[in-house]
Amino acid sequence: MANIILLGPPGAGKGTQAKRLEQTRGMVQLSTGDMLKEAIAKGTELGKRVEGIMARGELVTDEIVIGLIEAKLHEGARGGFIFDGFPRTLRQADALGELLQRMGQKLDAVIEMQVDDAALVARVTGRFTCGNCGAVYHDVTRPTKVAGTCDVCGSTNLKRRADDNEETLKTRLMEYYKKTSPLIGYYYAKGLLSAVDGLADVGQVADAIDRVLDKT
Ligand code: ADP
Ligand code: ADP
Repeated sequence: MANIILLGPPGAGKGTQAKRLEQTRGMVQLSTGDMLKEAIAKGTELGKRVEGIMARGELVTDEIVIGLIEAKLHEGARGGFIFDGFPRTLRQADALGELLQRMGQKLDAVIEMQVDDAALVARVTGRFTCGNCGAVYHDVTRPTKVAGTCDVCGSTNLKRRADDNEETLKTRLMEYYKKTSPLIGYYYAKGLLSAVDGLADVGQVADAIDRVLDKT
């Protein structure tokens, strides 16, 4: 059992790898991005508050995402948690440490998924996901076997994200470099950081992550 963070810019491959770890290791993915998107889809108060911010590619407030994570942590996870897209600021990182400590748990590894910025445009603009089971696809690197149908659950409800365009990606990348990239140094100093090459193919990235997990 291990609690890990997947850290990397939008399009680095965090969601793809988190979904695989859920299947192979019984871990539970906690994606604040997915939780927020669900709130928007359901039209909740929270969804209405964050919709515009997310459409612009800016970060929502720390309080909101810390609250979402806290609620999920109490549900527990047999194989441990995969934090995907959280924390994204130093405040969120401190809060996560405190929450885990209070529950008698700890963070076991932070895996930085290294990709170069030029690759991210192609990653993000080609991305689509299954609206039913959340499987992640790509027009070029990971198409569905049957066009228009999810390989995993057979749903034909395949979706693209409104914020996955080149213009919004620029804002999202700027937010990443200004607010999230300091976490690399933060977790290095805590002795928790490992880096993997996120530009390798999906299977090779998975193997590299498995090697880190096997050492925890
Ligand atoms: P990606 O998969 O491209 O990294 P996410 O799905 O994780 O993007 O997040 C989508 C959007 O949700 C972000 O652009 C941001 O507006 C909001 N968001 C998600 N997680 C956080 C967080 N931890 N802190 C602040 N905002 C967040
Ligand atoms: P993130 O959650 O970090 O934003 P995703 O896992 O959603 O990233 O991946 C972004 C896009 O890149 C998706 O379309 C996905 O299918 C594709 N992708 C993910 N990992 C790889 C990889 N190693 N090689 C090529 N394409 C990938």
